[in-house]
Amino acid sequence: MLERYHKILSGKLQPYYLNAKERDRGRDFSSRTMDELWNELEKESKRGIPPLELKRELADRIMRNCILCERICGVNRERGEVGVCKVSETKISSVFTHLGEERELVPSQTVFFAGCNFKCAFCQNYEISQLNQGRKVAPEMLVEKLENSGGKNINWVGGDPTPNLPYILEVLSGLSKEVPQIWNSNLYLSEESMKILSKLMDVYLTDFKYWDDRCAKRLSKVEDYKHVLKKNHLLAEETGDLIIRHLVLPSHIECCTKPLLEWIDSELDEPRVNIMSQYRPVWNADQHEDIGRYLNAEEKREIRRLRDKYSHLGADR
Ligand code: SF4
Repeated sequence: MLERYHKILSGKLQPYYLNAKERDRGRDFSSRTMDELWNELEKESKRGIPPLELKRELADRIMRNCILCERICGVNRERGEVGVCKVSETKISSVFTHLGEERELVPSQTVFFAGCNFKCAFCQNYEISQLNQGRKVAPEMLVEKLENSGGKNINWVGGDPTPNLPYILEVLSGLSKEVPQIWNSNLYLSEESMKILSKLMDVYLTDFKYWDDRCAKRLSKVEDYKHVLKKNHLLAEETGDLIIRHLVLPSHIECCTKPLLEWIDSELDEPRVNIMSQYRPVWNADQHEDIGRYLNAEEKREIRRLRDKYSHLGADR
């Protein structure tokens, strides 16, 4: 469990992004067509770790027709158009050393981005994700802050980091800190973004919310949730470590929590799982009968039983 992460911490492995920077060797990809860039990425991925500059070029071009996530909005964000996430230019809500993450991760140097591609009625972080509270920070200023900060890792979160992928790659290109990179996300990324993240992020810290697509559609306004999340979790574990968070929602243990945990246990290889019971009915939760309340005593007992059942996945918090 978390093998890659622990090896980086003990100095036995380099974080992927530093390997990717070594592969740059001053190469310039700006004159290539998009097809040529994707072919080059595929070729480089088969050989080893692709250059960071190649991924930056791809991510920057995607911004002209944004398909960073499975919303596939197709807006030109370079010209200031906005899609569902309402992110035009990157805004950062806060950067600080987080002591409340999973025990393996703390202290964690956490970068919170404003904006999100989800519209969760119960968002526990809605000031950042839905009200987009944050400010513009030049990438070189963030590099300087991260270089001089503590923490065992760098933790890219929000809102969601996905709409900010080009910005994150720009920061990584200026960074030299030998710490694991954590992609802390709803993992509703497009196939293209998953290819860019592959062999770049050392740990995927994911938020797996639902099993039933009808729940995902009604409460987060997303389509095809289960298919995308299953596919991306399987892709993520091919190259990185996985920590999966599941926030248990009131009234959703049978339709979502139980089948989701069964799938994780049977289909994924050694993920670390965190079954979370701190749900609060905030933001627009009171507009939905099922989630407009706290978890009740029986639901909390059921969560304890599930943590026992899945203790081999580290679900012990
Ligand atoms: S990041 Fe996702 S939600 Fe935002 S504009 Fe791009 S495709 Fe749309």
